[in-house]
Amino acid sequence: MPLTTYWLEHAWLDTNVEPGVALEVTDGRIAAVRTGVETPPPGAVVLRGLTIPGLANAHSHAFHRALRGTVQVGSGTFWTWREVMYTVAQRLTPDSYFALARAVYAEMALAGITSVGEFHYLHHAPGGSPYADPNAMGEALIAAAGEAGIRITLLDTAYLSSGFGAAPERHQLRFTDGTAEKWAERVSALKEREGVRIGAAIHSVRAVPADQLATVAQWAGARNAPLHVHLSEQTAENDACLAAHGMTPTQLLAEHGVLGARTTGVHNTHLTDGDITLLGTSTTGTCMCPTTERDLADGIGPAVALQRAGSPLSLGSDSHAVIDLLEEARAMELNERLRTRTRGHWTAAALLRAATTDGHAALGWRDAGVLETGALADFTTIALDTVRTAGPVPRLAAETAVFAATAADVHHVVVGGRTVVRDGAHVSVPDVGEALATAIAALRN
Ligand SMILES: [Zn+2]
Repeated sequence: MPLTTYWLEHAWLDTNVEPGVALEVTDGRIAAVRTGVETPPPGAVVLRGLTIPGLANAHSHAFHRALRGTVQVGSGTFWTWREVMYTVAQRLTPDSYFALARAVYAEMALAGITSVGEFHYLHHAPGGSPYADPNAMGEALIAAAGEAGIRITLLDTAYLSSGFGAAPERHQLRFTDGTAEKWAERVSALKEREGVRIGAAIHSVRAVPADQLATVAQWAGARNAPLHVHLSEQTAENDACLAAHGMTPTQLLAEHGVLGARTTGVHNTHLTDGDITLLGTSTTGTCMCPTTERDLADGIGPAVALQRAGSPLSLGSDSHAVIDLLEEARAMELNERLRTRTRGHWTAAALLRAATTDGHAALGWRDAGVLETGALADFTTIALDTVRTAGPVPRLAAETAVFAATAADVHHVVVGGRTVVRDGAHVSVPDVGEALATAIAALRN
């Protein structure tokens, strides 16, 4: 691949904003980073605004995008929302899921997201019988990410029970492989390829019986693969776990070898002090999904305490009530401000780190999420001259991006040296709005 030089008007280099940076890219990687380049070198691609490493959306259920708006009518709880979500899940086929996910991942690309962690549990045909290719649904998601131009870590999810060993309910038959061994057998047939990592997930301590947790953890361990788990999103899960096992979900995961540096707990909302210590000392990650957690009335997780204890933070848009990683980043800080009535729990740089470097690490992309020589050439440019971002001095561009910009201010995205979004338009999915409308309408009829 020939060498391409990008001239970045402003670049976020680890902890600070540098004006005038030349980025040389070849073979999908950053070959050189030069600072103090005041004017664009001849032939360089000029990117005005603030360029940051690509954003990592560490927790996604692509099909939940079909629920946007429709679940905002009436009252209820997480559990009533889940019933509506199940009815959409019933209608999806490999073809219709491909069409929906392609559009959703294109929406992510437009928002500056260059990697998605897809927490995928919709495996089988309605009624639970496997497709001819038992990974047809997972392959549809992988193909969708490829068409949308972003990286995917398919977090193939074990979902075996409706709760602590109880048989799956009717709607959950599409999710279950029967046993963790059978889950492992199916997932082992999925192959990594360019832009694709295969990881594992435990849906929750509700959905995987305790005596099968280790099977999933060992599968991930043998492959050095990321392992994600929904953890203590709801107090009802904690209560049921205490009743069934006499310990919290975090303690149960620790007991069965699930925690560790490759593992990420998603939500980590309702934790005891002991849980926080267990997660921190094992360096288990925490993926916060603040826009979903507030949408579903989950509560506010102890992200500050978790990070202080040693748990790295990442961010996800989860149910896709909105897809905007900048909003996720500031929401984590703003939630803490409301709870504590004090400001400044994280700097903009620390929030960007969660949205980029640490998010990528949680998805197994340890060579992405930074603008440095040798890293994958994944980056996102945020305009600093829009109605939302104009005004502040360039030195405060990161603060502007995190606390005022939205996904709509992203105007250029490069993944692996390929331009995916140019001047605010997706390069390979010409009308993302229409693609979303068509894919979602097809599920309604
Ligand atoms: Zn989730």
